[in-house]
Amino acid sequence: MKWLTILGISSIRSNYEGPRYKIAVIGDGGVGKTALIERVHGHRFQATYNITIGANISVYDFSHNEIEYKFQLWDLAGQQRFDAVRKMFYRGCHAAVLVFDQTRQESFNSLERWKRELFSNVGRKIPYIIVGNKNDLEQNDIPEDLLENYLEKCNSEFDTEKIMFETISITTSALSGENVKETFDLLASSIRSFIDNQNL
Ligand code: GDP
Ligand code: MG
Repeated sequence: MKWLTILGISSIRSNYEGPRYKIAVIGDGGVGKTALIERVHGHRFQATYNITIGANISVYDFSHNEIEYKFQLWDLAGQQRFDAVRKMFYRGCHAAVLVFDQTRQESFNSLERWKRELFSNVGRKIPYIIVGNKNDLEQNDIPEDLLENYLEKCNSEFDTEKIMFETISITTSALSGENVKETFDLLASSIRSFIDNQNL
């Protein structure tokens, strides 16, 4: 139990009873995953622990619609090529943040591969939010219809499963902070509605 406390994943003294969710933050290298996480922590980052498998894990506490959440954010740092690491990284994830860099279409094109990897390693479909980061930069390499078509495709994937879930996308800036907090609020709402629908 002690090492878990060191990682900031769990505290024996905590009497927090609200929902805890494990969230994978994924996307190509350089899209701003770490920067977004740093931003949401207000650069405090004390909860972060760089464990040897090469993932940064931090806990983000926030409240949204009068519900208190604990999001355990998993940020994969390199080493994606090791299967064992990947399995550990994805195991038990409740939701994900799929990040691309709006100035690099290639990083947008990779989203599908990241999502496949996510679903296959978690073993089921889970809710996620698509984040186009670096919106402080003027350049936007992703045509609007490309994004819209992709979101439609993502939604149809859930339709066949009879799960009511709408894939959301948002544009953010880890630099200015725009929409960073909102990203996690939206994801929290998605998780709640996903769970509610599955219980029907
Ligand atoms: P990661 O590999 O996905 O974790 O990407 P990082 O968080 O390390 O960011 C990669 C680079 O992009 C760094 O130089 C960051 O300073 C920069 N960066 C990240 N987010 C933004 C953003 O929103 N705007 C701008 N202009 N640069 C960003
Ligand atoms: Mg990083």
